[in-house]
Amino acid sequence: MSETTPHWLTKRADLSPNKKAIEFEDGSSITYLELFHRSQSYAKKLAKLGLQKGDHIAILSTNSVEMIQAVYACSYLGTVVVLLNTKLTLNELNQQLLDSDAKMIISSGSFKSKEFAIQQINYRDLESVSEKQIGITLNEEICLDDIFTMMYTSGTTGFPKAVQQTYGNHWWSATSSVLNLGLHENDKWLIPLPLFHVSGLSTMLKSVIYGMPIYVLEKFDVEKVHDAIMNRNVTIVSVVTVMVQRLVKRLGNNHYPNCFRCMLLGGGPAPKSLLEEAKKRNIPVFQSYGMTETSSQIVTLTPEEALNKIGSSGKPLFPAQLKIDHNKTEPNQIGEIMVKGPMVTKGYYKRTETNKEVFENNWLHTGDMGYLDEQGYLYVVDRRNDLIISGGENIYPSEIENVLVQIDGIEEAGVKGIPNEEWGMVPAAFIVCSKPIDMKVINTHLEKYLAKYKHPKEIHVINELPRNATNKLVRHRLGK
Ligand code: AMP
Repeated sequence: MSETTPHWLTKRADLSPNKKAIEFEDGSSITYLELFHRSQSYAKKLAKLGLQKGDHIAILSTNSVEMIQAVYACSYLGTVVVLLNTKLTLNELNQQLLDSDAKMIISSGSFKSKEFAIQQINYRDLESVSEKQIGITLNEEICLDDIFTMMYTSGTTGFPKAVQQTYGNHWWSATSSVLNLGLHENDKWLIPLPLFHVSGLSTMLKSVIYGMPIYVLEKFDVEKVHDAIMNRNVTIVSVVTVMVQRLVKRLGNNHYPNCFRCMLLGGGPAPKSLLEEAKKRNIPVFQSYGMTETSSQIVTLTPEEALNKIGSSGKPLFPAQLKIDHNKTEPNQIGEIMVKGPMVTKGYYKRTETNKEVFENNWLHTGDMGYLDEQGYLYVVDRRNDLIISGGENIYPSEIENVLVQIDGIEEAGVKGIPNEEWGMVPAAFIVCSKPIDMKVINTHLEKYLAKYKHPKEIHVINELPRNATNKLVRHRLGK
């Protein structure tokens, strides 16, 4: 058992039984001892249904205590948890259920009525599993190398594949981030992101290892996050870019209380102007880089002293190693970001061929383009697959997006490559505006900041950018 999740929950219930483990937005909370008992009785119930170590159980739920106890229950049994994204269509869910070989689905609320592709007998809703305590012995055979969770990658490119994460992957990702952030038992980490995503789940798992309570929201709500930081002693919050935008706006000229340490920003790039706005209000925004395949969004992190390195995602956290391609050892050379370390997944489930391509001598090909500066700080440029090659020139959509959002009235921008007879591909921009904008203003701005070949050949005003469950821009769905 050593450092596995069930080991830690058992130990935490012993070390800090009466300490609040999880707080919820309705004011309720549960202690580590309660979490331990609830997870154990749930595990016993699952065992009675015939589930055992190595079986796959899918969970489809928004953030809730029932979901959390189900995840921990699975860890006690050694069953593999397949975390499903609640924003998926029934078709997509069924594809993932079949692909993951799930034997049972546990779901809650409105998801109960869906027609899943696995036998009805194997479908259980969270509440139907009795809380009555029956007592369960720990599965002593669970070890760090066993698979604990499977998550389908966001599917921003290619066909979704299940990333397998071991107990060891989760332990390393928790440890490296908590130690590097200097967090301790008195911190309280707010999770407004879904627990079915790696950022939410990895934070949840840190809590039992380090005895650091979490505050869980069912979903992001700017008022609720603002209130939690202002009034509920939250010290750290995991966010994505659009959340920072809304929170900074909500804060206005006010300031967060002194106990608030930082926003941990992952999942995508943030415009320089936004980071500057945050800085003006003394909001430390630590930008991180990571992905489902690295079992957390924090493989690199901007340390406090580097907050002026705006645009950088920071330095790799021990024990992660990072390099650019195989041979780009000179600073500032753009290439594919590659990551190695004990937090990197063993591979995709049932994807032997893809695994050979993506994992080379234990180095993960991330599919992201970036560079390291002279001091070893990482700058993520774009997804390799979003790169627009126009007449032989490389164009990075995010560079154009960042220039567009500098224009007063352009709230958000998305750029993708479209086919063009002359150039092969050319950029097309999709903008969300808060007021009417004259195209002449846009063109003058583009002339000033971007080389001609990077100018979008089409600019469309739309109401909303297509985003996935974690608010990531899905460029290939722009204009569709
Ligand atoms: P996910 O697996 O859903 O967490 O998505 C991971 C992807 O988000 C990465 O492969 C990157 O494309 C993107 N991403 C994460 N962090 C950053 C960052 N700091 N800057 C730019 N893109 C990022």
